[in-house]
Amino acid sequence: MINRRDFLKLLGASVLATIGLPYFRVLAANIESWPGLAIKNLPDYYQHVLSLVPRMEFSKAGILQMRVVENRFATMRDMPVCQSNFNRKFIELAKGDPKWRFVIDQPIGLAWHFFGDTPEFAARRFPKGTAREYIEQGLSGDSTSVQFVVGDGIPQAGQDSLDKKLAIVQSELPDANGNWISSAHIKNVDRGWYENSRQYFANAFYCLLRDYGFSDPALGTILQRLYQPGFNGRPNIQLVGIEIQGCRFEEIDFFPGFQKLANTLAVSLAIIKRHKISSPAFNAYGHQELDLNKGDPGKNVILGMKILIGISALVSRDQEMKDLVFGPFTLGGKISKNSAVANYFYFIEDYYRRTTDPKKVNYWLNYFQIDAIHDLVSHDICGIQ
Ligand SMILES: [Zn+2]
Repeated sequence: MINRRDFLKLLGASVLATIGLPYFRVLAANIESWPGLAIKNLPDYYQHVLSLVPRMEFSKAGILQMRVVENRFATMRDMPVCQSNFNRKFIELAKGDPKWRFVIDQPIGLAWHFFGDTPEFAARRFPKGTAREYIEQGLSGDSTSVQFVVGDGIPQAGQDSLDKKLAIVQSELPDANGNWISSAHIKNVDRGWYENSRQYFANAFYCLLRDYGFSDPALGTILQRLYQPGFNGRPNIQLVGIEIQGCRFEEIDFFPGFQKLANTLAVSLAIIKRHKISSPAFNAYGHQELDLNKGDPGKNVILGMKILIGISALVSRDQEMKDLVFGPFTLGGKISKNSAVANYFYFIEDYYRRTTDPKKVNYWLNYFQIDAIHDLVSHDICGIQ
């Protein structure tokens, strides 16, 4: 379906000048755009997180950059990089062996983890809490590496911030073409879990994709395909990973604070945009969804991040981001964009309910004020953005 931006492109400025405003208004009203939402209408919790999110994107070479304003002049500057030993080694290996490169025949998704450092452990191992310590003392072995590590420091561009409190650091470099190479983190999937129906996350995706009207519910997500014959079964060459400093996020006392959520969100949005992840409702995961023996980063964090991603897209004027996040929920244009946005939020709530201990469900749905979000989406979204 043609959107307003394409319509304007097609029409061209010179034609616009000749047809006059009233006629154009009629035309524009007939073309459905993505809805938007004003930040001021959001619950305070979300306003607070969004106010702390830095604007980020990737350079062509695959380095995360942050928008920095100096002397009223905005530039994109590289975030600090502290390459893990694993990445140093595998970037060399991948030159001669394509199996260590990220997939090119399948979509790329996103994976969240928690670092697992208790406060006592962190005080001993990472006494200054800097980005450099977290990479050099934390991702030092051959078995653990991931593309990004985030903490609750205030993000700053430039290598100097490696020796400041951990905020956002890139720990893996892409190859010379800007493509990721394998990280070492998530075990290859156990197909037995899928065959004997133990993989309840994949089952939940199947049921929900079917119920929401998707045409191919068995193969609709990266998670489901990873478990099926004919696909690679290797999450490490298909999911870009973010480690979130901390542990036990399912407990309220350990749940990430505003800045840590904002930092995780900023990196997630940049990854979604770079790899055109559509939709993050079902192609962004926690480690625990790919390995049933893991508990990171917590189902509540996965839900919270998906709500934040949806809200970020809704308050943004970035039509491509709205297409990525909400687009699949139009079912190829069969349902309206307003309904697709509403279905994004219902889908992530339904998925959380289906996969989470019922005793914990209401606490976290209330924490994230999910009813207020559904309400806003059905009443307060506005037209053309
Ligand atoms: Zn993990």
